[in-house]
Amino acid sequence: MSVWDDLQGQGPVVEQLSRAAQSERPTHAWLFTGPPGSGRSNAAKAFAAALVCEQQQLEDRGCGQCHACHTVLAGTNADVTFIATEKTTISIDEARELVTKAQDRPSSARWRVIIVGDADRMVERTTNVLLKAIEEPPPRTIWILCAPSPADVLVTIRSRCRAVTLRVPPVEDVAALLVRRDGIDPEQANLAARAAQSHVGIARRLARDPEARQRREDIVRLPLALRDVSDAVRAAARLVELATAEANSSNDERDAAEKEHLLRSLGAPDKGTLPPSMRVQVRQLEEDQKRRSKRSITDTLDRALTDLLSFYRDTLVLQLAAGDRLRDGQPAGGTSGASGTGGGTGLVNEALRPDIERFATSGTPELTLARMDAINSVRRRITTTNVAPLLAIEAMAVSLL
Ligand SMILES: [Zn+2]
Repeated sequence: MSVWDDLQGQGPVVEQLSRAAQSERPTHAWLFTGPPGSGRSNAAKAFAAALVCEQQQLEDRGCGQCHACHTVLAGTNADVTFIATEKTTISIDEARELVTKAQDRPSSARWRVIIVGDADRMVERTTNVLLKAIEEPPPRTIWILCAPSPADVLVTIRSRCRAVTLRVPPVEDVAALLVRRDGIDPEQANLAARAAQSHVGIARRLARDPEARQRREDIVRLPLALRDVSDAVRAAARLVELATAEANSSNDERDAAEKEHLLRSLGAPDKGTLPPSMRVQVRQLEEDQKRRSKRSITDTLDRALTDLLSFYRDTLVLQLAAGDRLRDGQPAGGTSGASGTGGGTGLVNEALRPDIERFATSGTPELTLARMDAINSVRRRITTTNVAPLLAIEAMAVSLL
């Protein structure tokens, strides 16, 4: 076992990072990029663990067994700081705090490591606070910034960091991880990894929570019931409702766990009322959680639209495959018969194959592409502007008719 075990499907990155962790003087600023769910922050934590690992032998660094490795992965190591924002942006005060922290010598490890989980969620003014610290860090400090893509970070920062690029892991690798780490049945793991399009966290949730699976399937089925404008308006309302339910359900679970953790760390009594000093802290936590829930609904809506998009993506795959067969002079009739032997065209929504096959014959690839464009443009509007989600999604649903 080692800290790299959970970085499924990221072989080249693991090699790059384990080599760097063994060097006498690793680069002091890193930029980890990769699409959501590819495991950017897990990779950053694994690298931090390898940097501070207590093993004497260089090739054993990142053993996953020693006290340092354990505490880094658990988020309790004094020399490794991890900051990720649940708000829309990282505040300038939070950035200043990090810069101050970066000046401290590590307390026991070789390095002090500071990981910024959402380096893309900073306004320029905040980035400039970090810039100088990253340019001339104290000799024992290493910065790790994470973002979806290099373009999400100011070029001044980017040019000072060494790049680490994570890829979308293959479906089989994500499924294997769910089986090994979470004890999920292989077939269920495979369906979930496909449906989540290799997003590790979402795959795990889909594999373990039947209600989350049902909500996703309801979203993916929406296009099958679109015939006229009133269907479209209904589908839009349903989509927003399902996404909100999904956001609330995952928030409730996390909120309750956080509250329990806080009470335990404060040494709160099991029964009875809390002393006033503890009540203040609990109220503070609840306010933070409320702020966070707004962003998580936007994120979940975006995810719901990605699920919807996967229906049309599957449709397009089948339409293009049917077109190829026509050109090759094979009998065109019965796409369902062909799919049994083909097997090469894997669908994200394999469980809905018969429905999607029927749907695919009713349109053209051009029409499907136009519908995918409509979904992508509403995703951009929802995540980058203050548009009312329901109105934007209604307009989109009408354009899917
Ligand atoms: Zn170790």
